[in-house]
Amino acid sequence: MNLKTTKTESPKQLPDDSKLGFGQLFSDHMFNMDYSPEQGWHNARIEPYAPIVMDPATMVLHYGQAIFEGLKAYWTSNGKIQLFRPERNMSRLNHSARLVCIPEVDEAFLLYALKELIAIDKEWVPRAPETSLYIRPTVIATDPYLGVRPSHTYRLFIILSPVGAYYPEGFNPVKIWVTDKYVRTAPGGVGEAKTPANYAASLYGAEVAKGLGYTQVLWLDAIEHRYIEEVGTMNILFVINGTLVTPRLGGSILPGITRDSVLTLARDWNIPVQERSITIDEVMTAHKDGFLQEIFGSGTAAVISPVSHLAWRDDVVMVGDGKVGPVAQKFYDAITDIQYGRAEDPFGWIVPVEEE
Ligand SMILES: *Cc1c(COP(=O)(O)O)cnc(C)c1O
Repeated sequence: MNLKTTKTESPKQLPDDSKLGFGQLFSDHMFNMDYSPEQGWHNARIEPYAPIVMDPATMVLHYGQAIFEGLKAYWTSNGKIQLFRPERNMSRLNHSARLVCIPEVDEAFLLYALKELIAIDKEWVPRAPETSLYIRPTVIATDPYLGVRPSHTYRLFIILSPVGAYYPEGFNPVKIWVTDKYVRTAPGGVGEAKTPANYAASLYGAEVAKGLGYTQVLWLDAIEHRYIEEVGTMNILFVINGTLVTPRLGGSILPGITRDSVLTLARDWNIPVQERSITIDEVMTAHKDGFLQEIFGSGTAAVISPVSHLAWRDDVVMVGDGKVGPVAQKFYDAITDIQYGRAEDPFGWIVPVEEE
């Protein structure tokens, strides 16, 4: 497939790297591609960043048939821009696509188009320490039709957003609230897809948690309300008596690429790893018995997010000394060192944006 490029005639002013937040500013260009049953995916193009004008009946607005991804590009000290495991994001996009009846895309072509887009907007990759360019590929259903069925037409787009350091003043451990009342997703649902429905379903519980003074919700399984699933936009990991324990992927948990990177590093470092069912009661008992050493989340935005407090029913427990633990710190350092090119990449995780 060809990739047509139209450059902007009115570039925006570049932001100050030291004042970036998350997801508020967007680069000069975007990638677009359309799908129709007759032509398949076609009209791949890089063009100026612009609003999408659509009919109010457009299906995505009514039934949420859409999927997305989130990954980052990093500026390295030798002046190169690189991606972290982007093939994983492309294959997960297709996995999400299958779960909500969206036609799959050519993963290799999409990665090629992404590299071209970043190369055109390379001035938008921030350079201040621990900043990055957040990448949001998205697919939306575009038939103007109010009947409930999969759309026949789609738009795929990729937008780029320079983002600031997640921890400008060092780790900021989070307090999380465990709920047995609200659920994010259920077995047989679309919990392992990055699809808007899951995020809409999580908002109410997350607001309740905020009202109680917690940053995030830890979701339990939808049937017994005992088995730990994940947190907001992160997977969750526990260090119990020297073993790294994380819920196994059972269909209702998002298969995080950061989670997989942590598990790969742990195995490489000979830390015992268990991917298995784990109940909230087991975690509370481990804490009571003095075996619960660390809890942390993993995800692209924060990489590693240490948990300082866990609230479950009438108990609020402090994890360790409430600060970042040595295991969380070690994973954070190892992953970010590879992402920013400060360390060797023994696992083949890095993909340069421009070939030498
Ligand atoms: C994206 C996401 C994650 C983390 O996935 P990464 O690939 O590590 O960024 C975890 N849980 C949910 C619900 C997510 O949307």
